[in-house]
Amino acid sequence: MVLVFDLDDTLYDELSFVRSGFNVVADHLAENYALPEERLFSFMLFRLKIKRQHIFNETLKEFGIYSKRNVQKCVSIYRSHVPDIHLYPEADKCLKNLKNAHKYIVTDGNKLVQQKKLDALRLNSRFNFCYLTHRYGLKSSKPSPDCFFKICKRENVEPRHVIYIADNPNKDFVGIKPHGFKTLRVTSGQFSGLVMAKEFEADYQIRSLNDLRLPLLEKIFNNGRS
Ligand SMILES: [Mg+2]
Repeated sequence: MVLVFDLDDTLYDELSFVRSGFNVVADHLAENYALPEERLFSFMLFRLKIKRQHIFNETLKEFGIYSKRNVQKCVSIYRSHVPDIHLYPEADKCLKNLKNAHKYIVTDGNKLVQQKKLDALRLNSRFNFCYLTHRYGLKSSKPSPDCFFKICKRENVEPRHVIYIADNPNKDFVGIKPHGFKTLRVTSGQFSGLVMAKEFEADYQIRSLNDLRLPLLEKIFNNGRS
């Protein structure tokens, strides 16, 4: 039995990373341009609610300090900051309960950013290996099964012995299901209400990682052995 976890919104709240990044960017702008930090931070959160794009452009324009160079500086600060983030308590407990299992992470996103998250959450030592898909090129991003096949090779097992535990039915399950990987959706995050066509949905669902226990995993893996 090999357990593969998604990172963002499965093991910790991704919005807490965004807030942490906005905080350091607001701090930088406040210090360098004598602007009110609280207002900068609030404006970024306000923009985020409207659209998760061009937030720094809009913020710099709002406060009259827009330039391409300033945008790049904000992006660079955001991506390289040491994030103030924490595992969901149930994720921490679940990883403790499954301490002896073979465990991996497969996560998309900017590789520098994802590595900072893994470091902040101290996850490297709790997993056999963490696959940042972008290290292998954009083509290896989910829904690509590339990194999942790397795990099969490393563990010398077939896909039916591997389960992916993740939260986003848009991309987490559709690419690996046809190859026989098992899939388990945690419906606690921002996609909790999303219902997708069958090929996008996981084989199994739980409401929180509190429900991810050995008897359930044994049941899932035994069902596939017939
Ligand atoms: Mg996710």
